[in-house]
Amino acid sequence: MLKVLIPFALAKNVYDIDLEFYKELKIDTIICDLDNTLEAFYTLHPSERAYELIKKLNQIGIRVIIISNNKRKRVEPYCKDLNCDFMYSTRKPLIYKGKKFIKKFDINPEKTLYIGDQLFTDIVFANRLRIRSVLCDNLVERDQFFTKFNKFFDKFFRKKMKKKKLVPTWEELLHGINEQN
Ligand SMILES: [Mg+2]
Repeated sequence: MLKVLIPFALAKNVYDIDLEFYKELKIDTIICDLDNTLEAFYTLHPSERAYELIKKLNQIGIRVIIISNNKRKRVEPYCKDLNCDFMYSTRKPLIYKGKKFIKKFDINPEKTLYIGDQLFTDIVFANRLRIRSVLCDNLVERDQFFTKFNKFFDKFFRKKMKKKKLVPTWEELLHGINEQN
């Protein structure tokens, strides 16, 4: 399988990941996709669990920056409600804007984790920027129309990846780290 499609870890969703995982990896920044990773695309305002998650992460010294291919009118109000920095119309998997993003927010790729739900946009984007990534299952089944084409290939490669056990889950990685200590 193409290396650029391989994430660092797998997760059920962003809410399922134990904070210990980030602590063990010494993460100080999480770059998170918005639609279908943090929230369903039709949910316009942050849910209670999104507020809770951001609060908990901030409390342990991790900042969260939201990055989306969606338009300003969707991304800005949501992120302002959450009090998170953000970038809209990013055009993932292209990294032209991503490189600017890294400079603007002074991101250290070694201490950063990218979390997203799509192989061909999120994971390719993170890999090209040399940032470790976590691929989540879709938060909701329904998705925007324009992602349907991508989703077909995404499903195919995701299945293959899981069947061949090419990528560990965050739980497996965390246990591995703890066993070493
Ligand atoms: Mg998404």
